[in-house]
Amino acid sequence: MSKNPIIECKNLGRAFTTGDIVTHALKSATCTITKGEFVSIMGPSGSGKSTLMHLMSFLDKPTSGTYYFKGLDTKDFSEKKLSKLRNQEIGFVFQSFNLLSSVNIYDNVELPLLYDFYTKSESKEKRKSRVLNALKSVGMLHRKNHKTNQLSGGEKQRVAIARALVNNPEIIFADEPTGNLDSKSGNKVMRILQDLHSKGHTIILVTHEQATAEHGTRILNLIDGEIVKDEPVNIRRIANKTDSLKK
Ligand code: ADP
Ligand code: MG
Repeated sequence: MSKNPIIECKNLGRAFTTGDIVTHALKSATCTITKGEFVSIMGPSGSGKSTLMHLMSFLDKPTSGTYYFKGLDTKDFSEKKLSKLRNQEIGFVFQSFNLLSSVNIYDNVELPLLYDFYTKSESKEKRKSRVLNALKSVGMLHRKNHKTNQLSGGEKQRVAIARALVNNPEIIFADEPTGNLDSKSGNKVMRILQDLHSKGHTIILVTHEQATAEHGTRILNLIDGEIVKDEPVNIRRIANKTDSLKK
């Protein structure tokens, strides 16, 4: 047993059935993720990366295998427990941002607080300080009264990270968060994720780009619904990367 595993997948699988056709999106994934890790999940399009991430983050349920979260078998979790976990322990960042266009940035970030039993009953001022802190940590405080359509893609993604952060979750899941961004905005988003990692959050990132994956401390490679490689990121490469960032 590793130290403090938060996530343990044992032969985890997910098959989708459409009419007579069964697609084995994830065949059998076995891995353990420890508190404080920054794990990148890599693989070609259609290899099952999003499927695996959705299972880990309780957006979906496996059709085979076992998923232990903090040592507990998740098949026994009630819907109430699952929604509490999604709200309090997990933040999710999507490739396509998924912000609401009808309300301003502040309201987008506050939204998860209004869905949560605990924070919903907090004072408006307390909630406000959570929202402003989250916006500040991604450098988007100055845009709090803007609408989402007034922001660039990179700015939208930073707001989406603030929304994922507002409940101070232990784990941040990000599914191709730089996929729709130019390289400069993408780098900014990756730097925010690294910063969150250095503050103790566990980060799980899906990407199909090697260079993006190397921001993590470990890379899981998926091919055809199976983990074919699980390796730490070469330390020397990290050192080179840090040097080039300083230049
Ligand atoms: P990736 O994120 O690596 O691109 P996905 O996990 O999204 O891959 O998908 C893996 C495979 O499962 C693909 O072949 C995809 O078409 C299929 N798949 C994903 N979601 C569904 C679904 N809801 N119904 C049927 N097939 C699906
Ligand atoms: Mg995907």
